[in-house]
Amino acid sequence: MRRAVLWTLGVLLMGAMWSTAQVRRTNAPQPARNIILIGWDGAQREHVRECLKRGELPNLARLIQEGKIVAIDILRTTDTKAGWTQILTGYEPEKTGVFSNRRYQPIPKGYTVFERLEQHFGPDNIATVAIIGKKGNVDADPPTKVLAAPIEQRARQGRAQAQQRLRQGRIVVENGVRYLVEPGKPYYHARQIMDVFVNGLMRDDVVGARTLEMLERYRNQRFFFFVHFAEVDHQGHQYGENSKEYKDALISGDRWLGRIVQKLKELNLYDRTLIYVTADHGFDEGMKTHSDAPYVFLATSDKGIVRRGMREDIAPTILERFGLDLRRIRPPLDGHPLTRPYNPPLW
Ligand SMILES: [Zn+2]
Repeated sequence: MRRAVLWTLGVLLMGAMWSTAQVRRTNAPQPARNIILIGWDGAQREHVRECLKRGELPNLARLIQEGKIVAIDILRTTDTKAGWTQILTGYEPEKTGVFSNRRYQPIPKGYTVFERLEQHFGPDNIATVAIIGKKGNVDADPPTKVLAAPIEQRARQGRAQAQQRLRQGRIVVENGVRYLVEPGKPYYHARQIMDVFVNGLMRDDVVGARTLEMLERYRNQRFFFFVHFAEVDHQGHQYGENSKEYKDALISGDRWLGRIVQKLKELNLYDRTLIYVTADHGFDEGMKTHSDAPYVFLATSDKGIVRRGMREDIAPTILERFGLDLRRIRPPLDGHPLTRPYNPPLW
């Protein structure tokens, strides 16, 4: 009798443990060995939605089937410098100093996902790689010092760009000569500790091919890749958001997503790699601009995403997936991981 009771209790206990494990398997963070964050610069949420509906983005559709797609909204400037900085740091511009393409500084040392991962795992235990289509607004150039006179002259003639450079930089006088010292670009500090930072590749085919190469190179190591495709934004500026060219660029991004997934499968890494696809800003409906384009998305193979969010929520999501304790990050992140409900007080 007693034995039967014990046996029953044992079965119940094991059942409870098993179901807890099941719950854990579905809801709790799946720790990732590797993450690839893919950027489709300037991909408007609604346009992506329409392409998905028409079956034009089969690889994105497959990713979403495995994981999720959620809306990402933007409250700050809808441009490239502001966008990727927020996505790759988890901070508002007040903490990074990167407000827009024109108003920026190097992101303070240590604030990017790349640097946090290098610090957390140790430089030999993770490869941090950025392969970037754009040159101008996703870059790492150091501060520069140039003769001020020609720029001051252009500014006096009313040239906006020269006026902006003067506002942004500072004048120093050496031996009676005036120089303009201009700030370094956003990834100036990050680049110094990253394994790979290449930008200005322009074409999707070049970005994609380089990505496959780098996956080969770092296959035996833990890695975080940021892969930035620029053609959607470029075609949007040239032909407009509703053009065939804009749509074809989204399809090109999708094709490369498929090739990256294929490569991961060939290398036996797909099971240990999470993929996120997002955009820095959308596009003004039917226009060649994105001055008020706050609607983007996050598509991912990560099953644990439970809510929509903001641009700054993406970095904490990635850091948490790599096992970092977000509460220990200083200054505190402005974003919150998309793996948990977030209900801030109303007041
Ligand atoms: Zn643009």
